[in-house]
Amino acid sequence: MPSPFLIVAIDGGAAAGKSTTARALSARFHFLHVDTGSHYRALTAEMLRLGLRATEAAEVERALAGLALGTRVEGRRAHIEVSARLVPETELRGPEVNAAVSHFAAIPALRAKLLAYQRDQARIAREAGFAGLVMEGRDIGTVIFPDADFRFFLHADPEERARRRAAEGQQDSIQERDRLDSSRKTAPLLCPPGATDIDSTFLSLDEVVERVSAPIAGRIDAA
Ligand code: C5P
Repeated sequence: MPSPFLIVAIDGGAAAGKSTTARALSARFHFLHVDTGSHYRALTAEMLRLGLRATEAAEVERALAGLALGTRVEGRRAHIEVSARLVPETELRGPEVNAAVSHFAAIPALRAKLLAYQRDQARIAREAGFAGLVMEGRDIGTVIFPDADFRFFLHADPEERARRRAAEGQQDSIQERDRLDSSRKTAPLLCPPGATDIDSTFLSLDEVVERVSAPIAGRIDAA
């Protein structure tokens, strides 16, 4: 019997190891990898380009209504296109977007714009022949795919996460983003009830990947 199409949700704070884990799952199981943080970053970059601030919620909502979202699949990775434009990685991960993204991500209209788009990534993955979808973010197991086949929540001590970001050469206030992400009213960052909670502070990334992969491999082998 062919294996069922699997949806894997990985949530957690900034620099908790989500991207490395999602990339590894995507490679091992041939899943489409979708990083929803990059969706919030792309819309934030677009709003900043339009000269808007997160405090101007009504203007942001109007601007969002005029944007068309698309998807470009490159290898095993899906990238968001904002009105047919792919925002460059350097802009997505730059200090301006780092500082503003959690403020824009707290705007309900902006989250609403991404909800259907993100759920639709499962269809894109199926149609492109992937064996599943691995989606990382802050609200995947709680809001986007609460019925995902597997839901993981990664966390690590703030000092360890700051060390990882610095090792990547990035200037990022991860504690401030986590504070904003955890305290917002719409879809706050929290461990989804029933999800597997993994503390990665004292684990190598290989060990995290192994813990996350084992039950998925078990399910595929049993199919
Ligand atoms: O994962 P990354 O650090 O790139 O995410 C950037 C920001 O996007 C987060 O700090 C958060 O404000 C927002 N985000 C979110 N919900 C998600 C993914 C990211 O609010 N599912």
